[in-house]
Amino acid sequence: TLEVRNLHKAYHGNEVLKGVEFKVRQGQVKAVLGPSGSGKSTMLRLMALLEPADQGEILLEGDRIGVAANGRALPEAQLAVQRREVGMVFQKFNLFPHLTAAKNVALALTAVKKVSRGDALEQAHAMLDRVGLSDRADHHPSQLSGGQQQRVAIARALVLAPKVMLFDERTSALDPELVGEVLEVMEQLARDGMTMIVVTHEVRFARRAADEVTLFDGGVIVEQAAPDEFFDNPQHERTKKFLSHVH
Ligand code: ATP
Ligand code: MG
Repeated sequence: TLEVRNLHKAYHGNEVLKGVEFKVRQGQVKAVLGPSGSGKSTMLRLMALLEPADQGEILLEGDRIGVAANGRALPEAQLAVQRREVGMVFQKFNLFPHLTAAKNVALALTAVKKVSRGDALEQAHAMLDRVGLSDRADHHPSQLSGGQQQRVAIARALVLAPKVMLFDERTSALDPELVGEVLEVMEQLARDGMTMIVVTHEVRFARRAADEVTLFDGGVIVEQAAPDEFFDNPQHERTKKFLSHVH
């Protein structure tokens, strides 16, 4: 279970997160929808411990993460250990252009977990197989489609065996091929029992794969419900308005 309580974050006095309360249980998939600028990516970055919160708590399986027991900042080395528990796939996948797919994935292990090169490459191949890219392991990112690159990024996060996976999809329109193949991998992960938080505007994915759908707006959570409830019987005016634009 990953839980956040009363999460606040401001940039230069501009309050982006205004007391977010959020919980995703072990093995569940939460889809997060919301307009551009509502704070979705910021929430994920805080959960992934890439930035500190101004206020509030992040709990992973009941343990507070990101801060020391006395509430002070954690030493960077301890923060790095905690970060491995939370896998994140960004809007931009940041693959190294000069490395093959397999080496991009293996690097996560050799650099972060100090695994030997041979073991790392073996695990990288297994993970690429899992995302349907065993035949692309020796290709460089420039030789891969957008969807294939995104799956390499997913493999790179998975290889560190995180307890939770966070996905941050781009807001702009995706080409349909990219949506299909990446969503298939994500749906498979969900069926395998991975705990996932997926920022998306793919209503189809949210309906099919999510256990719960959340609407984020203006730095707070407006509505959370099971997909059928959320889409067919939204309770809040804000949700109805949002859905009238995406449907
Ligand atoms: P999108 O759907 O477009 O990805 P989002 O919901 O992910 O939007 P965020 O990226 O979390 O929104 O941004 C929320 C607000 O915080 C925006 O107004 C953004 O400009 C601001 N913001 C985000 N990161 C920073 C930063 N590092 N410095 C200053 N402002 C920031
Ligand atoms: Mg975003």
